[in-house]
Amino acid sequence: MTKGNINVSVENIFPLIKKFLYSDHEIFLRELISNATDATLKLKHLTSIGEAKVEYGNPKIEVKVDKENKILHIIDQGIGMTGEEVEKYINQVAFSGAEEFLEKYKDTAKDSGIIGHFGLGFYSAFMVAEKVEIITKSYKDEPAVRWICDGSPEFTLEETADKTERGTEIILHIAEDSTEFLEEGKIRELLLKYNKFMPVPIKFGTKTHTLPLPEDAPEDAVAETEEVDNIVNNPTPAWTIAPSELTNEDYMKFYHELYPMQFEEPLFNIHLNVDYPFNLTGILFFPKLSNNLNIEKDKIQLYQNQVFVTDEVKGIVPDFLMLLRGVIDSPDIPLNVSRSYLQADGAVKKISSYITKKVADKMASLINENREDYEKKWNDIKVVIEYGIVTEEKFAEKSDKFTLYPTTDEKYFLWSELEEKIKPNQTDKDGNLIILYASNADEQHSYIQAAKDKGYDVLLLDSPIIPHVIQKLETSKDKISFARVDADHINNLIKKDEPVISKLNETEKESLKKYVEESINDKKFTVQLEDLDSTDAPFTITQPEFMRRMKDMQATGGGGMFGMGGFPEMYNLVVNSNSEFAGQILKTENEEEKAGLIQYALDLAKLSQNLLKGKELTDFIQKSYKQLEK
Ligand code: ADP
Repeated sequence: MTKGNINVSVENIFPLIKKFLYSDHEIFLRELISNATDATLKLKHLTSIGEAKVEYGNPKIEVKVDKENKILHIIDQGIGMTGEEVEKYINQVAFSGAEEFLEKYKDTAKDSGIIGHFGLGFYSAFMVAEKVEIITKSYKDEPAVRWICDGSPEFTLEETADKTERGTEIILHIAEDSTEFLEEGKIRELLLKYNKFMPVPIKFGTKTHTLPLPEDAPEDAVAETEEVDNIVNNPTPAWTIAPSELTNEDYMKFYHELYPMQFEEPLFNIHLNVDYPFNLTGILFFPKLSNNLNIEKDKIQLYQNQVFVTDEVKGIVPDFLMLLRGVIDSPDIPLNVSRSYLQADGAVKKISSYITKKVADKMASLINENREDYEKKWNDIKVVIEYGIVTEEKFAEKSDKFTLYPTTDEKYFLWSELEEKIKPNQTDKDGNLIILYASNADEQHSYIQAAKDKGYDVLLLDSPIIPHVIQKLETSKDKISFARVDADHINNLIKKDEPVISKLNETEKESLKKYVEESINDKKFTVQLEDLDSTDAPFTITQPEFMRRMKDMQATGGGGMFGMGGFPEMYNLVVNSNSEFAGQILKTENEEEKAGLIQYALDLAKLSQNLLKGKELTDFIQKSYKQLEK
């Protein structure tokens, strides 16, 4: 038997580890199972190249709880270690790793919440155990050894006859303050959290399996049962399989495996697969975003070689894709660095831009494959795409291929189609393309109708982020401008071939304007007399595009503008001097009656713009009833 001191300069490293990593004790299990997996896969490799002359078989990893004796076992059938190797890898490598870790991160790691991302290795066992035993037998023909360490730098190492099978058994004598790890439920929860997709089967207990009855069994026959291993993980999750070998059903099945509490099917998936210049695989799903309750819970999960690392993927996945679900698996993501470092990391930036590109390509191929289906899904995916256009230049550059612009008639146009369609009849006097849009089909109904009556197309752009998207499109595209249907009178927005002949002379117009201004007497409204078609509404309230858009942008988080005390409410009251109503005002001699007419028309215009509310609305209704009674 060898006794010795682990060669560490810190007097006693274990209490330190324990205290320091307080918040993340549970990761010890992930670390030990990772080691067991590595040992198993190493053996697989060695047997495949003929280096190890043993049968690989169907190795598994077993986790066993012995609550009575306060012991947790993690047993693998991997390469095992010889006595010499334990000396080297456990006493030297593992512990120098521990020291290095503490040295490097003791000041920074604690508050950055990244501790769980570290590959802490074997010594993390001491976070929960007061004594750790390793019983291991190498695949090489050498005797098994037992290593024991009680959390001081002293250890013992001796040959043992207790183990005849190849592999390693880690025995944790769970400490008083960590007895939660003796609960089956707790261990099961951890196995499902961290090891659900690890590449070697993990056995945790057994389960009863009912055997099928033979066909000729009598009716009262009782089916036989057998005890079988309860395997908690799926060693070959969909993302590790080539896309060509997967059906849509497989992807859906995997989605539900990943998010057991999600009952809705995702809209489509994106299979990621790169091996140069970095390694990354994964599957992203586009969930239906409407009626989505689990945004917070069911996030994209990050794996490193099938080991769950985190679902905090900010910085790795571009922001606009954070609403997606799925997994990303990469050995190249540096996990042992802090978050701010992560964002500046070159590899991470490449990963982020790869994902962006891949999503863009997928969208483009989806719309080409099945336009009708894509149109149906548009309302569920548009927020992600619009957000991408605003925040990721690379994505915006490609977005014309797959961004749809729906009209109020539920037609969907690509940008190129839209331009082609509206260019002939929707330009302003400078030749700019004028794109009319509504943000709410109900609230802006009368304006939409007015535009449609004149033969114009109106887009329905109703996401909250739209003002930002429009701003972006106007700067990136030539000679276009967006105007909400109520931004100005249509006749002022879009150039008409023939000018409208004025019915009133200048004096009449002047007095009309004066009447209106005097009777409404409200600074919010600027009265604007226009020669419009006689069929156009007598009074229309408009809100200049720029002002309103700024206000909208502010409301959806226009950065520092938020909360700076909003813009004043300003409207134009467009009076159609060619309307019959205008003539009627001029003809009416009774001053009171005239003021009444103007007020009534203003109320109607306000109604169309959803501005008639509260007492004003009540007064209007009472007035209208009185009118009916007359
Ligand atoms: P890491 O796994 O990052 O190398 P660890 O501290 O977890 O660091 O382990 C140190 C070394 O001990 C490993 O590299 C491996 O050689 C050996 N080891 C640990 N666990 C096992 C095991 N279950 N079977 C065989 N070797 C192991």
